Amino acid sequence: MLNGGAEATPTGAESAYVDARQLTFRFADSDDADGAYLAPVSRWAARATSPGRVVRIPACGRSLEEIRLEQAVAAHLPPGHGLRLALTDNHYNIVAVRRDPSTYVVRIHRIFAGAEPRLVRAVARYVVHNDRRASGVLGEFIERHEHIISRTPRRPRLVKLRAAGRVYDLQDIFDRLNQQYFEGTLRAQITWGPAVFRAQQRSIKMGSFSVEDRIIRVHPALDRAEVPLFFVEWIVFHEMLHGRHEIRRSGRRRCFHPPEFLAQEREFANYQRASTWEKENVDRLFGR
Ligand SMILES: [Zn+2]
Repeated sequence: MLNGGAEATPTGAESAYVDARQLTFRFADSDDADGAYLAPVSRWAARATSPGRVVRIPACGRSLEEIRLEQAVAAHLPPGHGLRLALTDNHYNIVAVRRDPSTYVVRIHRIFAGAEPRLVRAVARYVVHNDRRASGVLGEFIERHEHIISRTPRRPRLVKLRAAGRVYDLQDIFDRLNQQYFEGTLRAQITWGPAVFRAQQRSIKMGSFSVEDRIIRVHPALDRAEVPLFFVEWIVFHEMLHGRHEIRRSGRRRCFHPPEFLAQEREFANYQRASTWEKENVDRLFGR
């Protein structure tokens, strides 16, 4: 993302489901700064950490296969620890674990229903220790079942994309930059973002890239004739680079703009012009 002022905390979880799915095995590091959830990018995890939204797994109405898997995994847990396990159809987070003091809360894809003993043991080891070898076993199993995961029904499309603005058509800009800088290979969707103006906002996000559904959002304040085309291109280009460069982790920190990202950013034809324009105009643009 690119902000006027300080870099804000990105939220991949704000995005809704769309056609462009990404099948990933999201085993985040156990030292994750976001808290106890191993899958900080899931919508579920995001909900669970936001106030007033409590996720409960109903005691009744559970499927037999869910109860069976829960019992099988629970048999391998250390004494004094409970387990709540739910089977899901979540394409993004195949296995998510929350480690509460006395309970493990596990959400796991339906492909694990009826898992053989070796796999059940690996799940338990992963739940308890975040064991590297166990996650290897799980990863292999998930890879072999990708065809099933990708066949499960998709969530309804909730995001409305609006690339054509009053002044600028973001799709035109995206397509042109894609040809010029990415040999037309970058896959992402683009839209003008919702108009959110907050008086007290210390930083304004001019663009964002949602890793989960690969949607670039551009702040609608840039859809004005007084904003030069090269500047809108610059914002779009920056977010497109997020589609090329993975977020790096080093310990507790996440690095959104690693050195190779910044190097490629400087290849932008109007790099100097755009950063100068930003410095001189961004406050006025956002009425600060
Ligand atoms: Zn960025």
